[in-house]
Amino acid sequence: LEPLSVVDPEIAAVLANELDRQQSTLEMIASENFVPRAVLEAQGSVLTNKYAEGYPGRRYYGGCEFVDVAEELAISRAKSLFGAKFANVQPHSGASANAAVLHAIASPGDTILGLELAHGGHLTHGMKLNFSGRLYNAVSYGVDPETFLVDMDVVRSRALEHRPTVIIAGWSAYSRQLDFAAFRAVADEIGAKLWVDMAHFAGLVAAGLHPSPVPHAHVVSSTVHKTIGGPRSGFILSNDEELFKKLNSAVFPGQQGGPLMHVIAAKATAFKLAAEPEFRDRQERTLRGAQILADRLTQPDAKAAGIDVLTGGTDVHLVLVDLRESEIDGKTAEDVLHQVGITVNRNSVPFDPRPPMVTSGVRIGTPALATRGFGDAEFTEVADIIAAALLPEPDLAALRTRVTALAARFPLYAGLDASGMP
Ligand code: PLP
Repeated sequence: LEPLSVVDPEIAAVLANELDRQQSTLEMIASENFVPRAVLEAQGSVLTNKYAEGYPGRRYYGGCEFVDVAEELAISRAKSLFGAKFANVQPHSGASANAAVLHAIASPGDTILGLELAHGGHLTHGMKLNFSGRLYNAVSYGVDPETFLVDMDVVRSRALEHRPTVIIAGWSAYSRQLDFAAFRAVADEIGAKLWVDMAHFAGLVAAGLHPSPVPHAHVVSSTVHKTIGGPRSGFILSNDEELFKKLNSAVFPGQQGGPLMHVIAAKATAFKLAAEPEFRDRQERTLRGAQILADRLTQPDAKAAGIDVLTGGTDVHLVLVDLRESEIDGKTAEDVLHQVGITVNRNSVPFDPRPPMVTSGVRIGTPALATRGFGDAEFTEVADIIAAALLPEPDLAALRTRVTALAARFPLYAGLDASGMP
């Protein structure tokens, strides 16, 4: 029963260093967030010891009376948060949820139609090295070369051309909202299933600040750790009972063995918090932060340096910076921002002339800083720092000082260690 610092000082040092990194820098990776202490506690708990194959009340192991309560709570909170009739909270991750979705609604060899990876789609939507591209005949739609928006006429014509079994709506890098009703109309026209992957924008949906895909899609998948700000994991929703039976059996025993009950308990806590007014306030600050950033990066000084924002702005929690006309590429921008203490990721823009390891874009997200407490004034300061770092001849040391000051004003996990303990 000795502590980690005694049993394994090397790993204890990793945790301490990572806590310090998170506290002293500004996290702007669009898919990241900070879980509350309560979630760290649930996730770092004795529930990690429990096998619970099966579903609540129908387990293949004894001793599940308490973990059943956790999973029932996670299910009922997910259903009420998103207004769905059925929820499966067992997927270990977003990718596991997506594997189960395809397992349930398509057969190997079937055609699936999703957003092109290079235009903002996700690996699990048909990338050729991913299971989705290897098991299924993956075809794609791209964004419009002028507007960078998904054009529903193009989606429809690709659907009519390829007659996929599944149409996928959802993205990892797109800064506008999709028209789920229009996607459903295309799916219905060809007898396909519509699957919406809301991994990125689920927190906005939960807060009522983004249209919900639940009434339109046959199935919706998501992660819990991006805008929702819960533990690293996934879940699946549906309103169709017959389909849901297939989804349940696709998760277990189709894709997974024992569920991660400690993570499921933490999901339940995250869903509880997501129903509270503070959560909506945080999602509002997330959206405004992204808009403040987009405004700053479309000012004349940025334009003069070849910096722009794809689609000219954002309706979600991220901004896609377009560096195709800029001397600095995505990799350099990521490195420069890292030097000033701001963490982002480079990202290919559609029709990117630079190679994927270099890219002409950066994806910048606001959820983690909104969780930290940032409002309009702080996002304005961050936007200024980012613009100054990307413009010619930045004073990196001065910018780093401004970042450090901002981080210090918004303490993270104050008084706690890296496992959330005082
Ligand atoms: N779906 C989308 C749209 C994503 O952006 C991601 C993660 O980036 C995933 C699924 C996969 O989630 P995970 O990394 O938990 O497997």
